[in-house]
Amino acid sequence: MVFDILTIFPAMFESPLDESILGKARERGLIDVRVHNIRDYALDKHQMTDDRPFGGGEGMVMKPEPIVAALGAIKTDGPPARTILLSPQGRLFTQEIARELSGLSRIILICGRYEGVDERVADHFTDDQLSIGDYILTGGELAAMIIVDAVTRLIPGALGNAGSAGSDSFSEAVLEFPQYTRPQNFEGLTVPQVLLSGNHEIIRRWRRGQALLRTKIRRPDLFARLELSDEDLALLEAAREEARK
Ligand code: SAM
Repeated sequence: MVFDILTIFPAMFESPLDESILGKARERGLIDVRVHNIRDYALDKHQMTDDRPFGGGEGMVMKPEPIVAALGAIKTDGPPARTILLSPQGRLFTQEIARELSGLSRIILICGRYEGVDERVADHFTDDQLSIGDYILTGGELAAMIIVDAVTRLIPGALGNAGSAGSDSFSEAVLEFPQYTRPQNFEGLTVPQVLLSGNHEIIRRWRRGQALLRTKIRRPDLFARLELSDEDLALLEAAREEARK
């Protein structure tokens, strides 16, 4: 899968994309991340990528010409792409959208800065706009990294343990159950006995109950959309009972 990233701060991507799962996925050729400096496509001698807003007001707006020139240049090469503008006004990026994007062969991510990008880019040169949350970042670079990370870990072979993406929170619209590791007793805080039982079925049932209970408490919006089986209802009640003790 190819990620093309358009930014005026390409150096921001150097370290995050080289580490851990993303670094390994790049080494193994599962993903190819190409970072393009929008400034290289600026037409004037000062390589301006922003200008004052028409109609007045604070700050600067990113000019359309360098971004559209960059898109034109990179699109001539490689598979067809979905072009996405990072914007706090876009669709909220979720695990479902990450899954949808992981099925594509190429994504172009445009990182805005300042007061944002000239609206004509959004209207005529992109397929989608994505927001990573209801807050304002100084630029789209961190948002792009988050999308590359969340999408890459869903690409078959990217995670060392193929099973781990399956139980993650949101993989089936429930939060993940609580996880523990050694030591068994940390400063007097012990891990739930059931996890030491070695009985996989009992552990599965406990985890399911815990996952349902924390989804109900922490994310009632997700919980309301679940279709619970009779077993789920019983496991949820058992988890509730355990929490009361
Ligand atoms: N004035 C713009 C507005 O109110 O919609 C915000 C501009 S923001 C300071 C600069 C750039 O950061 C945006 O163009 C976008 O690329 C990126 N950005 C900021 N917050 C974001 C978010 N929550 N999700 C995705 N991108 C974001």
